[in-house]
Amino acid sequence: MEATAKVSKKIIQCSAVANGTAKAFKQGDPIAARPEWDKDRCIRCGICYVYCPHGAVERLDDGFFDVNQKRCSGCGICHRECWFGVISMVEEG
Ligand code: SF4
Ligand code: SF4
Repeated sequence: MEATAKVSKKIIQCSAVANGTAKAFKQGDPIAARPEWDKDRCIRCGICYVYCPHGAVERLDDGFFDVNQKRCSGCGICHRECWFGVISMVEEG
């Protein structure tokens, strides 16, 4: 039997849509904002870890996640990809 469900081509809030548009980033460059985790709401799914383009999200011994400040570009992808709104971007300076 032929599948009848239609596949939606609408893309919603996908960080990878406009690929190739990110600014070049060198470790140690100043950043505009840094991510902050609210552990109380985190389910430890690891999505933020997977999506970070700089390997700046680190898994802690207790299974939660945090940022390695030296690697983070402040891009905000982890903040956008977290399903539960755990990660806030806090302006620097
Ligand atoms: S994506 Fe969100 S809920 Fe999942 S581990 Fe990261 S901060 Fe926690
Ligand atoms: S802001 Fe960007 S570079 Fe920094 S931890 Fe989140 S995804 Fe990684």
